[in-house]
Amino acid sequence: MNNILFIAPPAAGKGTFSELIKEKYGYVHISTGDLLREEVKSGTDLGKEISDIMSSGKLVSDDLIKRMLEKKLKTLDKNTPFIMDGYPRTLKQVKDYEEILEKLGLNIGKAIYLKIDKETGLKRVLGRLTCPKCKRGYNKLTGYNMPKVEWICDDCKIELESRVDDTEEAYNIRYDTYMKETKPIIEYFKSKNNLIEIDSTLDADSTMKEIEKWLV
Ligand code: AMP
Repeated sequence: MNNILFIAPPAAGKGTFSELIKEKYGYVHISTGDLLREEVKSGTDLGKEISDIMSSGKLVSDDLIKRMLEKKLKTLDKNTPFIMDGYPRTLKQVKDYEEILEKLGLNIGKAIYLKIDKETGLKRVLGRLTCPKCKRGYNKLTGYNMPKVEWICDDCKIELESRVDDTEEAYNIRYDTYMKETKPIIEYFKSKNNLIEIDSTLDADSTMKEIEKWLV
Protein backbone atom coordinates (compact mmCIF):
# COMPACT_ATOMS: atom_id res chain seq x y z
CA MET A 1 0.00 0.00 0.00
CA ASN A 2 1.19 3.53 -0.77
CA ASN A 3 2.10 5.98 1.95
CA ILE A 4 -0.12 9.06 1.78
CA LEU A 5 0.59 12.73 2.27
CA PHE A 6 -2.41 15.01 2.64
CA ILE A 7 -2.11 18.64 1.56
CA ALA A 8 -5.16 20.77 2.26
CA PRO A 9 -6.55 23.98 3.71
CA PRO A 10 -7.94 23.81 7.27
CA ALA A 11 -11.03 21.62 7.74
CA ALA A 12 -10.80 19.98 4.32
CA GLY A 13 -10.99 16.54 5.96
CA LYS A 14 -7.35 15.51 6.46
CA GLY A 15 -8.09 14.20 9.96
CA THR A 16 -11.39 12.56 9.03
CA PHE A 17 -10.03 10.61 6.05
CA SER A 18 -6.84 9.73 7.87
CA GLU A 19 -8.89 8.09 10.63
CA LEU A 20 -11.11 6.27 8.11
CA ILE A 21 -8.09 4.92 6.22
CA LYS A 22 -6.42 3.95 9.47
CA GLU A 23 -9.49 1.95 10.57
CA LYS A 24 -10.15 0.29 7.24
CA TYR A 25 -6.61 -0.42 6.01
CA GLY A 26 -4.42 -0.39 9.12
CA TYR A 27 -2.37 2.68 8.20
CA VAL A 28 -0.48 4.60 10.88
CA HIS A 29 -1.88 8.14 11.13
CA ILE A 30 0.70 10.82 11.85
CA SER A 31 -0.76 14.27 12.46
CA THR A 32 1.65 17.06 13.36
CA GLY A 33 -1.35 18.99 14.80
CA ASP A 34 -2.15 16.03 17.11
CA LEU A 35 1.52 15.68 18.15
CA LEU A 36 1.54 19.37 19.05
CA ARG A 37 -1.79 19.16 20.90
CA GLU A 38 -0.39 16.26 22.97
CA GLU A 39 2.63 18.40 23.90
CA VAL A 40 0.25 21.22 24.92
CA LYS A 41 -1.81 18.83 27.09
CA SER A 42 1.33 17.65 28.88
CA GLY A 43 1.65 21.20 30.25
CA THR A 44 5.42 21.58 29.68
CA ASP A 45 7.00 25.01 29.07
CA LEU A 46 7.33 24.06 25.43
CA GLY A 47 3.65 23.07 25.42
CA LYS A 48 2.64 26.52 26.72
CA GLU A 49 4.68 28.22 24.03
CA ILE A 50 3.14 26.04 21.32
CA SER A 51 -0.37 26.61 22.69
CA ASP A 52 -0.15 30.38 22.15
CA ILE A 53 1.01 29.95 18.55
CA MET A 54 -1.62 27.34 17.73
CA SER A 55 -4.56 29.25 19.18
CA SER A 56 -3.57 32.28 17.12
CA GLY A 57 -3.71 30.19 13.93
CA LYS A 58 -0.05 30.72 13.05
CA LEU A 59 2.53 28.04 12.25
CA VAL A 60 4.93 26.54 14.76
CA SER A 61 8.64 26.77 13.79
CA ASP A 62 9.95 24.48 11.06
CA ASP A 63 12.79 23.25 13.29
CA LEU A 64 10.58 22.26 16.17
CA ILE A 65 8.25 20.31 13.89
CA LYS A 66 11.20 18.65 12.18
CA ARG A 67 12.61 17.32 15.47
CA MET A 68 9.20 16.17 16.66
CA LEU A 69 8.44 14.38 13.41
CA GLU A 70 11.79 12.68 13.07
CA LYS A 71 11.38 11.26 16.56
CA LYS A 72 7.95 9.91 15.63
CA LEU A 73 8.99 8.46 12.25
CA LYS A 74 11.88 6.60 13.87
CA THR A 75 9.36 4.52 15.83
CA LEU A 76 7.57 3.32 12.67
CA ASP A 77 7.59 -0.24 11.45
CA LYS A 78 8.83 0.13 7.86
CA ASN A 79 6.28 -2.37 6.53
CA THR A 80 3.24 -0.47 7.78
CA PRO A 81 2.00 2.28 5.46
CA PHE A 82 1.52 5.72 7.01
CA ILE A 83 -0.50 8.86 6.37
CA MET A 84 1.18 12.21 6.89
CA ASP A 85 -1.47 14.72 7.91
CA GLY A 86 -0.51 18.38 8.29
CA TYR A 87 3.11 18.15 7.15
CA PRO A 88 4.90 19.57 5.16
CA ARG A 89 3.24 22.99 5.31
CA THR A 90 6.08 25.18 3.99
CA LEU A 91 8.66 24.71 1.23
CA LYS A 92 11.35 24.49 3.91
CA GLN A 93 9.40 21.62 5.48
CA VAL A 94 9.30 19.83 2.13
CA LYS A 95 13.11 19.84 2.05
CA ASP A 96 13.27 18.78 5.72
CA TYR A 97 10.80 15.98 5.05
CA GLU A 98 12.74 14.65 2.07
CA GLU A 99 15.89 14.70 4.18
CA ILE A 100 14.25 12.79 7.07
CA LEU A 101 12.70 10.20 4.74
CA GLU A 102 15.97 9.56 2.99
CA LYS A 103 17.79 9.17 6.28
CA LEU A 104 15.23 6.67 7.57
CA GLY A 105 14.78 4.84 4.25
CA LEU A 106 11.10 5.73 3.99
CA ASN A 107 8.98 6.63 0.97
CA ILE A 108 6.95 9.81 0.50
CA GLY A 109 4.15 7.96 -1.34
CA LYS A 110 1.24 9.76 -2.99
CA ALA A 111 0.58 13.46 -2.38
CA ILE A 112 -3.16 14.03 -2.22
CA TYR A 113 -4.57 17.54 -2.37
CA LEU A 114 -8.01 17.82 -0.77
CA LYS A 115 -9.72 20.81 -2.35
CA ILE A 116 -12.30 22.88 -0.50
CA ASP A 117 -13.49 26.49 -0.67
CA LYS A 118 -13.11 28.93 2.23
CA GLU A 119 -16.84 29.15 3.10
CA THR A 120 -17.34 25.37 3.32
CA GLY A 121 -14.23 25.16 5.50
CA LEU A 122 -15.56 27.81 7.88
CA LYS A 123 -18.85 25.97 8.36
CA ARG A 124 -16.98 22.75 9.14
CA VAL A 125 -14.64 24.49 11.57
CA LEU A 126 -17.42 26.16 13.54
CA GLY A 127 -19.31 22.88 13.98
CA ARG A 128 -16.38 20.55 14.51
CA LEU A 129 -16.22 18.38 17.65
CA THR A 130 -13.57 15.76 18.40
CA CYS A 131 -13.26 12.99 20.96
CA PRO A 132 -10.16 13.81 23.05
CA LYS A 133 -9.50 10.08 23.54
CA CYS A 134 -10.02 8.29 20.19
CA LYS A 135 -9.86 11.46 18.01
CA ARG A 136 -13.07 10.54 16.17
CA GLY A 137 -14.59 13.61 14.50
CA TYR A 138 -18.20 14.83 14.57
CA ASN A 139 -19.89 17.97 13.29
CA LYS A 140 -22.88 19.73 14.82
CA LEU A 141 -23.38 22.16 11.90
CA THR A 142 -22.89 20.00 8.82
CA GLY A 143 -24.49 16.92 10.41
CA TYR A 144 -21.46 14.76 9.60
CA ASN A 145 -21.35 11.84 12.03
CA MET A 146 -23.83 13.24 14.58
CA PRO A 147 -23.23 11.58 17.99
CA LYS A 148 -26.05 9.36 19.34
CA VAL A 149 -26.08 11.28 22.62
CA GLU A 150 -25.59 15.04 22.34
CA TRP A 151 -21.86 15.93 22.34
CA ILE A 152 -20.77 12.57 23.78
CA CYS A 153 -18.43 10.24 21.84
CA ASP A 154 -20.36 7.14 20.66
CA ASP A 155 -17.41 4.87 21.40
CA CYS A 156 -15.64 6.36 24.44
CA LYS A 157 -18.77 7.84 26.13
CA ILE A 158 -16.89 10.98 27.09
CA GLU A 159 -17.55 14.61 26.26
CA LEU A 160 -16.50 15.87 22.84
CA GLU A 161 -14.24 18.92 22.56
CA SER A 162 -13.93 21.84 20.15
CA ARG A 163 -10.44 22.94 19.20
CA VAL A 164 -9.20 26.27 20.55
CA ASP A 165 -8.23 27.32 17.02
CA ASP A 166 -11.65 26.51 15.56
CA THR A 167 -12.90 30.09 15.89
CA GLU A 168 -13.72 32.29 12.91
CA GLU A 169 -10.79 34.60 13.71
CA ALA A 170 -8.19 31.81 13.95
CA TYR A 171 -9.67 30.07 10.89
CA ASN A 172 -9.17 33.20 8.78
CA ILE A 173 -5.52 33.38 9.83
CA ARG A 174 -5.03 29.63 9.24
CA TYR A 175 -6.59 29.93 5.79
CA ASP A 176 -4.41 32.92 4.89
CA THR A 177 -1.32 31.09 6.17
CA TYR A 178 -2.29 28.13 4.03
CA MET A 179 -2.65 30.32 0.90
CA LYS A 180 0.71 31.96 1.52
CA GLU A 181 2.87 29.11 2.86
CA THR A 182 1.23 25.85 1.83
CA LYS A 183 -0.18 26.59 -1.63
CA PRO A 184 3.34 26.73 -3.20
CA ILE A 185 3.83 23.12 -2.08
CA ILE A 186 1.07 22.09 -4.46
CA GLU A 187 3.07 23.47 -7.38
CA TYR A 188 6.14 21.64 -6.12
CA PHE A 189 4.43 18.23 -6.07
CA LYS A 190 2.80 18.96 -9.43
CA SER A 191 6.25 19.59 -10.92
CA LYS A 192 7.34 16.21 -9.52
CA ASN A 193 4.30 14.54 -11.15
CA ASN A 194 3.06 13.50 -7.77
CA LEU A 195 -0.14 15.36 -7.06
CA ILE A 196 -3.63 13.91 -6.94
CA GLU A 197 -6.40 16.50 -6.73
CA ILE A 198 -9.64 15.49 -5.04
CA ASP A 199 -12.82 17.52 -4.50
CA SER A 200 -13.41 17.43 -0.75
CA THR A 201 -16.63 19.45 -0.69
CA LEU A 202 -18.63 16.32 -1.58
CA ASP A 203 -20.09 13.97 1.03
CA ALA A 204 -17.51 11.94 2.95
CA ASP A 205 -18.35 8.60 1.24
CA SER A 206 -17.74 9.98 -2.27
CA THR A 207 -14.47 11.65 -1.29
CA MET A 208 -13.33 8.49 0.49
CA LYS A 209 -13.97 6.43 -2.68
CA GLU A 210 -11.80 8.82 -4.70
CA ILE A 211 -8.99 8.58 -2.15
CA GLU A 212 -9.19 4.80 -1.99
CA LYS A 213 -8.27 4.56 -5.68
CA TRP A 214 -4.77 5.76 -4.80
CA LEU A 215 -3.99 3.57 -1.84
CA VAL A 216 -2.82 0.58 -3.89
P1 AMP B 1 -3.91 20.93 12.19
O1 AMP B 1 -4.37 20.02 13.27
O2 AMP B 1 -3.15 20.21 11.11
O3 AMP B 1 -5.01 21.80 11.65
O4 AMP B 1 -2.84 21.93 12.88
C1 AMP B 1 -3.22 22.82 13.91
C2 AMP B 1 -2.14 23.85 14.17
O5 AMP B 1 -0.94 23.19 14.58
C3 AMP B 1 -1.72 24.70 12.97
O6 AMP B 1 -2.58 25.80 12.76
C4 AMP B 1 -0.31 25.12 13.41
O7 AMP B 1 -0.34 26.13 14.40
C5 AMP B 1 0.21 23.85 14.06
N1 AMP B 1 0.86 22.96 13.06
C6 AMP B 1 0.45 21.70 12.67
N2 AMP B 1 1.27 21.19 11.73
C7 AMP B 1 2.23 22.12 11.52
C8 AMP B 1 3.36 22.19 10.66
N3 AMP B 1 3.66 21.20 9.80
N4 AMP B 1 4.12 23.32 10.70
C9 AMP B 1 3.84 24.32 11.55
N5 AMP B 1 2.79 24.35 12.38
C10 AMP B 1 1.98 23.25 12.38
